[in-house]
Amino acid sequence: MNINKNFNIGNGSKIAVIGGGPAGSFFSYFALDFAKQKGINIHIDIYEAKNFHVAGPAGCNRCGGIVSESLVQALSTDGIVLPSNVIRRGIESYKLHMEQGAILIKTPLKEQKIASMYRGFGPLGSNNIDSVSFDNYLLELCQKKGVYTIYEKVIDLERNERGINVQTKTTLTNYDLVIGSVGLNPRSFSLFKKISPAYIPPVTTKTYICEFKLGNELINQYFGNSMHVFLLNLKNIKFGALIPKGQYVTLVLLGKQITGEIVDSFLNSEAVQRCFPKGLDIDKITPCQCFPGINIKNAHYAYSDRVVLIGDSASSKLYKDGIGAAYITAKAAAKTALFNGVSESDFRKHYQPECTRLNRDNTIGKFIFWITTILQRSSTLKKGIFRMVVNEQEKENDKRRMSSVLWDTFTGSAPYTDILRRVLHSKTLISLLVNTIYEIFNRPQKGIEK
Ligand SMILES: Cc1cc2nc3c(=O)[nH]c(=O)nc-3n(C[C@H](O)[C@H](O)[C@H](O)COP(=O)(O)OP(=O)(O)OC[C@H]3O[C@@H](n4cnc5c(N)ncnc54)[C@H](O)[C@@H]3O)c2cc1C
Repeated sequence: MNINKNFNIGNGSKIAVIGGGPAGSFFSYFALDFAKQKGINIHIDIYEAKNFHVAGPAGCNRCGGIVSESLVQALSTDGIVLPSNVIRRGIESYKLHMEQGAILIKTPLKEQKIASMYRGFGPLGSNNIDSVSFDNYLLELCQKKGVYTIYEKVIDLERNERGINVQTKTTLTNYDLVIGSVGLNPRSFSLFKKISPAYIPPVTTKTYICEFKLGNELINQYFGNSMHVFLLNLKNIKFGALIPKGQYVTLVLLGKQITGEIVDSFLNSEAVQRCFPKGLDIDKITPCQCFPGINIKNAHYAYSDRVVLIGDSASSKLYKDGIGAAYITAKAAAKTALFNGVSESDFRKHYQPECTRLNRDNTIGKFIFWITTILQRSSTLKKGIFRMVVNEQEKENDKRRMSSVLWDTFTGSAPYTDILRRVLHSKTLISLLVNTIYEIFNRPQKGIEK
């Protein structure tokens, strides 16, 4: 096929964004901003198969719903301030649970806060009409800027001399550029392989999410404004968290191929049982649950002439802040398309470096989660860390090295490279060693509550 490789986005260019999750919306938002800076008018259609106004799985891009501190800051710099009806709870602290007990850890810096939200309208049966889903909020932000939304699934993509045809059940439209922000949808990956044969989709593993309906009173009493994270010695689980949101608490389990059996072992553990009111049958307050995939290894060749894949479909952040990674890749793709060009070599030269940065950081992330697994298995090391954190929390003006490392690891608020640098700081290591030796000699542990 004879494609004009020197084509550039200009006045009247048409762009199709396949997938209206965060990556698709961020791309559209920035592409329109950059077009305005260039003084050109472009047309963007977002194709989205889901209806984010519907409660339950049909309207939900399944996720823990934590917006990291770094993303909250980046968004506000770009003029996107999340309104209060999108934020279901401001998270001000986290409670670290292990077999021996639990400890409350405040945010390392007073201004450091993260938000919990729902990607869709809410769990099955929710009827809170005052709340808005995060994905819908972003989509409407784009619509206000002039983006068109076509609420249909894209079923075919085909190259031709004039660009790329995008087909749904009822429409067939030609575009100058196509953006793949299809998340981890395998069927949509095959559409993109058709027009970009070199594309190798990301590797995924199975995770678990479920909701518990507890009501405001019990949530305030048992969870407050804290995310509850678990460092338990349980097979396959790298990370477990209970996140309060409005009337509900969301359980997220990340690890290797999470199954129903693994979920049961987690829910039946004493540390988790302690979080809920005694005698409560949690099976009876679970309106929905799912086992979504998560990106654990980046895609390759996520671009070709006039095509670029972003967000989960390209590179994400290992286990954390996938929305932040969607923001980074979407903005980089929009910048490249508007200021550099839309050929394969333009994307390789100007877009790929951002993905490579994320991928390299994930290599460090893998190492950090490997260390976490060792920690999970060693009760002495865990006690050493706990003692260190308890001591940090007691001192007002302390640097709180371990508390901030744990906060950033659990919330995804800093790059893994930065976290590792802080872990390897001599003062962190010496303090950990001293606290662990203290534990080995079996002094009574302070500050841990059951
Ligand atoms: C268990 C779990 C917990 C997580 N927790 C967090 C967290 O707390 N914080 C965080 O930042 N990240 C979290 N993530 C990661 C986060 O969910 C993703 O990284 C993020 O959603 C990626 O955004 P995206 O826009 O690339 O993809 P998605 O959000 O998956 O959006 C893709 C969109 O494309 C649409 N689509 C797909 N194919 C088609 C088609 N053919 N036609 C039309 N539309 C189509 C889909 O309907 C969907 O709306 C979590 C992930 C998992 C699995």
